[in-house]
This record gives sequence, C-alpha cells and structure tokens, in this order.
Amino acid sequence: MIDTVTFAAIEDRYTSGAYTKRPLTLVRGEASTVWDDAGNAYLDLTSGQGVALLGHAHPAVARAIAQQASTLITSAEAFYNDRRAQLYEALSGLFQDERRYFLSNSGAEANEAALKVARLLTGRTGIVAAMRGFHGRTLGALGATFNADYRAPFAGWTPAVSHIAFNDLAAAEAAITDQTAAVIVEAVQGEGGVHLADADWLRGLQRICAERGALLIVDEIQSGLGRCGHWFAVQAAGITPDIVTLGKGIAGGVPMGVTAWRAELGTIPAATHGSTFGGNPLSCAAAIAALTALRDLDAPARSNDLGDWLRGEIAALNLPVVRDIRGAGLMIGIELRTRVTPVLQALQSRGILALPAGKTVLRLLPPLVVTREELTFAVARIAEVLRDAR
Ligand code: PLP
Repeated sequence: MIDTVTFAAIEDRYTSGAYTKRPLTLVRGEASTVWDDAGNAYLDLTSGQGVALLGHAHPAVARAIAQQASTLITSAEAFYNDRRAQLYEALSGLFQDERRYFLSNSGAEANEAALKVARLLTGRTGIVAAMRGFHGRTLGALGATFNADYRAPFAGWTPAVSHIAFNDLAAAEAAITDQTAAVIVEAVQGEGGVHLADADWLRGLQRICAERGALLIVDEIQSGLGRCGHWFAVQAAGITPDIVTLGKGIAGGVPMGVTAWRAELGTIPAATHGSTFGGNPLSCAAAIAALTALRDLDAPARSNDLGDWLRGEIAALNLPVVRDIRGAGLMIGIELRTRVTPVLQALQSRGILALPAGKTVLRLLPPLVVTREELTFAVARIAEVLRDAR
C-alpha cells in the first residue's frame, strides 16, 4: 500500500497530465491476470487497452524478445535484416492478396502512414472518415478522429476531414468525390462505443472508392488479428480494403504499427516517409512469435466461440440497466442506461478490470487466451455490479 502511494505520487509529480489515471499500480501479468503492487490479482478484461491478445507475459513472445535482445535490438530499415524479412513473410500469410507494408511503432502512426500513402498514390488531398470514429492522436490521425474534444484544441493543425454518418451509404455517395484520396473507417468502432459497420455499407464504400479512384483504409488496430472472430473484422463483409492498418497486439505487447496496402497500387517514393524504430529487429521478432501464437490458438475461431457465449450469458441476465449488447468476437460493448465510470470502479473492487467506450458503454476486450472459467467469474461480478447500478 505504501508503495502504491509512492509510485502513484511519483507519477503524478512528473506525468504529462494527458491521462486520467485509475488508482492502481500494476506490476505483473500472466495470461489474463494482472497483479498490483500489493499482490492483489485482477482479471484483465482491458487486455492493456486491447493489446494483450495473447494475454500477459506469453512465454513464446517473452522467449523471442529475450533471444533477439541478446542478438540485435536495433537496425533501421536503411539495412536489410533477417527478422524483418521473416516478419514480412508472416504478415503476407494474413492477407489473400499481395501487399506492401510500412512498419511503425503505434496505431496512430499506422494510420498516419496510411493517409500519407493514400495521398502519395492518388495525388489527391481529400479525406473522408466516419462520425464516432477513432484513429489516434497524432495530427494526421487526429484529423480523422471524430471526437471534437480531442480535435478542437488543435484546430487548424489537423487535415480537413469530412466526417460522414456511420453506416449511411447515401452520405458516403455524397462525400466521396474525384478529389478524395482516402476513406478511413473502423470495421467495428471501438472508442466510439462498439458499433459494427454494416456489411452492405462496407461493400458500398469499397464500390464507391473503386468507382471514384479513392482508396479505402480500414483501421483494424483494435478489431483485427482475431479479436472479432476473423483475422480482420472487415472480412465479415467479404471485402479486402486497399489499405489495412494494424497495431495493438501485433507484436505481443511490444510497440508496432503496420500499414498494409495492395501491392498493385505500387510503392511510395523514397524519403516520403520513415521511422527510426520502424521494423526494428526486436519488435519484428516479437511480432513473428505473436502471429505464430495467434495462429496456434486459432484466434478468430476462439474469439468467435467465446464472444458468442459471453454475449449470450450477459443477455440472459436480463438486467434492466442494460440497454444494448453489441460486438463481434471478444470485442463487446454493453450499453447502459447509466454512467459507466462507477460501474468500472465497482468491478475493479471485485477484481475485474474493464474499459469504457464513451460515457455509458462498458467495453470488454478480454485477452483471446481467456478461459471460460474466467469469463464465468466475470459474468457473476458484472451481474452483481449491474444489478445494483442505477
Ligand atoms: N485506431 C483505433 C481503432 C484504435 O482503437 C486506436 C487506439 O485505441 C488507435 C487507432 C490508436 O492507436 P495508438 O494508441 O497505438 O496510437
């Protein structure tokens, strides 16, 4: 307890102010459990903000990191590298078509690169994104993010983006023109409240983009890599976007962003983009191990089965405070008739960590290695808390 106060006090003294912190100092994790510095265990239904698809301290990922750390940590893309080459091959196994890849260090960077690639490959400047969409907080990605609270302080610095209603094809028809470089959307909106894109809308976006020469970017940073019952959530609509962005769990918790575009669109000119740490051997080794482990887990099928079951269990509770239950695979939003913050606090005091998505949505992003027993425990705690919620 003394340590908690000490660590929290030190952080509070030095941190930027950008984050609203929860009063918990996490010091260790294993699979779906994390521990605080007083030794209390929590079931982590946040996956560390969606990152820990494989849970915490996955042995194969930890081994790969340790081995690469004592071999070669850093080597920029100015040189070729064995691990990076292997990662490109592993990534190409995720896609049905041939792709080009830009490797970076975060989700926002993956989207930043996607927007730059779209501009370079089309020569156009227009960007269309969706209302409630979240694409990150660097200036380019921030422009595509909808929430005005995030964008307003930087007005004038972010690119002009036309935000259209999610799932509204007529709005897309009107907004996408022969000046549009890119349309960027999530297949399942995460931060925006866990809303699924309609398959018809996604197919319509692809058609309109193809007709008008714009590129469709699907941001799979939160929804991808098996989280939503497919390798990419957009596969539910049967389409292959021009550009796909990945991040979060791609390297088993080590920072990495990936921007993958159709190879037939071509490469981008030298020096138009770059990153010192992008494609470094350490994160590439971690990503190879993570992708192998996700395949071994049969991540899409597992998240689909567990997610269907979990949504069913929550629905069966018939809780009056629940307005709606949405999601795909293990990306679940429970929309409440009340504010979510006290619910999150009550869950935490019962050993469950979960996320908000807006003010009234309880978001569950369990690790894909979570067990049915752990989820049964979670359902019981959620039932206790939501029965009391007003
Ligand atoms: N895109 C989506 C859909 C996200 O959920 C996030 C993060 O939550 C991002 C982009 C930004 O990723 P990062 O925080 O790694 O920059």
